[in-house]
Amino acid sequence: MKYYDKLVFELSKPGRTAYTLPNNGFKASLSEIPAGLLRSESPVLPEVSEPDLVRHYTNLSQMNFGVDTGFYPLGSCTMKYNPKINEEIAAMPAFQGLHPLQDESTIQGALEVYYEMQKALAAITGMKRFTLNPCAGAHGELTGLMIIRNYHLLRGDTARTKVIVPDSAHGTNPASAAVCGLEIVEVKSGANGLVDVESLRPLLGPDIAGIMMTNPNTLGLFEKDIKEIAALVHECGGLLYYDGANMNPLLGMVRPGDMGFDVMHLNLHKTFSTPHGGGGPGSGPVGVCEKLADCLPVPRVEKLENGKFTVVGSSKTSAGRVSAFMGNFGVILRAYAYILMLGKQNVKMAGKLATLSANYIKESLKDAYKLPIPTVCKHEFVFDGLIDDGSSTGKPGATTLDVAKRLLDFGFHAPTIYFPLLFHQALMIEPTETESKETLDAFIDVMHEIAREAAADPDILHNAPHKAPITRPDETTAARNPILKCEL
Ligand SMILES: *Cc1c(COP(=O)(O)O)cnc(C)c1O
Repeated sequence: MKYYDKLVFELSKPGRTAYTLPNNGFKASLSEIPAGLLRSESPVLPEVSEPDLVRHYTNLSQMNFGVDTGFYPLGSCTMKYNPKINEEIAAMPAFQGLHPLQDESTIQGALEVYYEMQKALAAITGMKRFTLNPCAGAHGELTGLMIIRNYHLLRGDTARTKVIVPDSAHGTNPASAAVCGLEIVEVKSGANGLVDVESLRPLLGPDIAGIMMTNPNTLGLFEKDIKEIAALVHECGGLLYYDGANMNPLLGMVRPGDMGFDVMHLNLHKTFSTPHGGGGPGSGPVGVCEKLADCLPVPRVEKLENGKFTVVGSSKTSAGRVSAFMGNFGVILRAYAYILMLGKQNVKMAGKLATLSANYIKESLKDAYKLPIPTVCKHEFVFDGLIDDGSSTGKPGATTLDVAKRLLDFGFHAPTIYFPLLFHQALMIEPTETESKETLDAFIDVMHEIAREAAADPDILHNAPHKAPITRPDETTAARNPILKCEL
């Protein structure tokens, strides 16, 4: 064990400090604080010097994997590079020091960013209006479904209590529908991985509030029958919800509004290049077509005749309030910087390059990994495990989990595994447009190397990772009984 593998608690020496807080002149004596709110004993905190503290955090950060440390082909997550200029802009004191309860007249610049961002997203997606209030993709889904429900109720139509969700959908879709109090009806995909129109037809009726779709779907395939599906759903009085978390491949090419969708969300922390993971702040703006504009949540930012911006706090037709203030402004700023930096022309390039990168990897690896749906994909695609898993050696064959674990030894993050549920050994790869051809080639070489290892001796994969800080935790125990506290 290396010295710095020790816990910071084990390095602790009483009285040692890394930093001393300046005297802030706060004079209140402890007796002024109600006794019930005071600690009975001091907390046990590690006491270390500044260098030990710096090393503690630096070493911890190096045990983690991020898009800044290596290639991160996690399907359905769009782990693209986050330009550092976005961070600088979000950290500008004039933005960072804002308070949500500040008087409107003092935050005109921030409101302008907010307003212009709503307009930019409407232009990119073909929707009429946007709200930036929701704080995650799933939060956007819930908001969108609340808008759909509100729309039906405002028309006095109380019978629409069901929502159709394809079997290939992201897990958040049925979850959001359930949270919204809607009943979920599943529609099956055909053998080509697309929503089957003939399976959809009999599900439609006066009890259908709408359908939630992802296009390209979670297999990375474009739902080519979307116009027909839209017509059928509209005919039965339902609305179309678009899950735009991964709109990357469509940027500047096709707009959900033009495909017939009525409501949608975007994940700024995927498609629009803001950091994500670890449950940090996100942003799931929701866009709607004209007839749903009045149902958008409050508060809303509007532009007045005199060119000033104002916050509208209430509305009789609104689906309600979905967040404490107006969303995660820091995330919105980063995404706005990204959109302005690319401009109309280059936004289009992002989608094309993401699609090219995915198809390049797919075609380069299909000699070693099973490709269940061999058509052209969009930003991502799914393999169904190894062609030769090594079981002919007499040992148990290498699984998708084993491939994923072995990739870590080569310095790559694993792809998404065992999702979507349509294939038993799903390995879902999404490279994004920000990776160079050299990086893609290095990944392809390693994936071939792993396939050769599996065929020759699957145990190399079974015991991987060999070089990561920890090898294979028991995943159930790690999830059910995590040890989160240091007991010295
Ligand atoms: C990521 C994702 C979501 C959920 O987004 P969160 O911000 O994690 O809530 C929904 N749908 C799809 C297709 C996604 O990829």
